[in-house]
Amino acid sequence: MRFKEQLLSLTPYQPGKSIESVKREYNLEQIVKLASNENPFGCSEKAIAALQENQVSLAIYPDGYATLLREKLAAFLNVCENELIFGNGSDNLIQMISRALLHPNASTIMADHTFSQYKHNAVIEGAIIKEVPTINGEHDLDGMLAAIDEKTNVIWVCSPNNPTGTYVSEQKLINFLDQVPEHILVVLDEAYYEYVVAEDYYESISLTRKYKNLIVLRTFSKIYGLAALRVGYGIASPEIIKALEPAREPFNNNSFGQLAAAAAIADQKFVEICKDKNRQGLAQFYDFCAEHGLQYFPSQTNFILIDFKMDANQVFQYLLERGFIVRSGKPLGFPTSVRITVGSFEQNEGLIKVLGEFLKENK
Ligand SMILES: *Cc1c(COP(=O)(O)O)cnc(C)c1O
Repeated sequence: MRFKEQLLSLTPYQPGKSIESVKREYNLEQIVKLASNENPFGCSEKAIAALQENQVSLAIYPDGYATLLREKLAAFLNVCENELIFGNGSDNLIQMISRALLHPNASTIMADHTFSQYKHNAVIEGAIIKEVPTINGEHDLDGMLAAIDEKTNVIWVCSPNNPTGTYVSEQKLINFLDQVPEHILVVLDEAYYEYVVAEDYYESISLTRKYKNLIVLRTFSKIYGLAALRVGYGIASPEIIKALEPAREPFNNNSFGQLAAAAAIADQKFVEICKDKNRQGLAQFYDFCAEHGLQYFPSQTNFILIDFKMDANQVFQYLLERGFIVRSGKPLGFPTSVRITVGSFEQNEGLIKVLGEFLKENK
């Protein structure tokens, strides 16, 4: 068969290890998974109630327009319904954007290192990929501007950035957007938007009004705690949305996800609580790093990338055998770092204790 040649060079996405497989492999009773930046506090009770109280007919296709969710979200964000597009997770939006704009005669620019799916999808479309190294974990926006050529169709900006946790300041972003030619789509991936506390973070929705070549991606998978239901969304000018819509599968958001996400929006108290607890959790890790002289990037997210100055897989394996699943930095481009999702207070405490023992044994 004649599969696209570029598929042969790709490996499927490597998810964090599953709880069940680790339990079996290491004969452990309890596992704490802090590997995929999921919400350790679950989701809003309102989302669960919406699923329990509404009869969803399994025989009927979901609402392809996501009407209820669209209405609730538009009202909440104070945007028009035609400024929104929904994805089966924001991963699906990355795929749609790539499908709509990338091809072998187009180039695309992204940071090195950033979220893996930009490159993955660009490879599948056969596009020319230009990766611009991060500086101190941050996007080098000037370097990315310099990488623009006549074939550039899409630039990816992940802010806050996965896996470093760093963000782009308002001034830097505006200076960047002012210089990107209007025919190039800028994708601002804000999967961790709700966790941000930095005061000089921009207000991206108003920027989509000013810059007609900007799309903002957000998700219900992270702070909203609905990763299993796969709901992400894009905010952009009606022209961008209209152009992307034909690249969207007609029923890409399932009925459960639409219901739960619509209800979750109404519970901003839950979001606030999770945001506060996350900052407290990050402080636990900051204290630990300070105590042991470990370097990390200050985080605007619910994870932290800590540099142990030794083989990341060794740290990863030590934790795994003691019931903690984290993410080795190796496949993420940081071979001596480990990416840890901030858990509950107790989970963080437990993990920090084991990390302390690890450092003692590996002095
Ligand atoms: C988790 C994550 C996503 C994907 O989220 P889904 O909505 O679950 O597909 C996208 N971008 C970044 C940077 C992420 O970390």
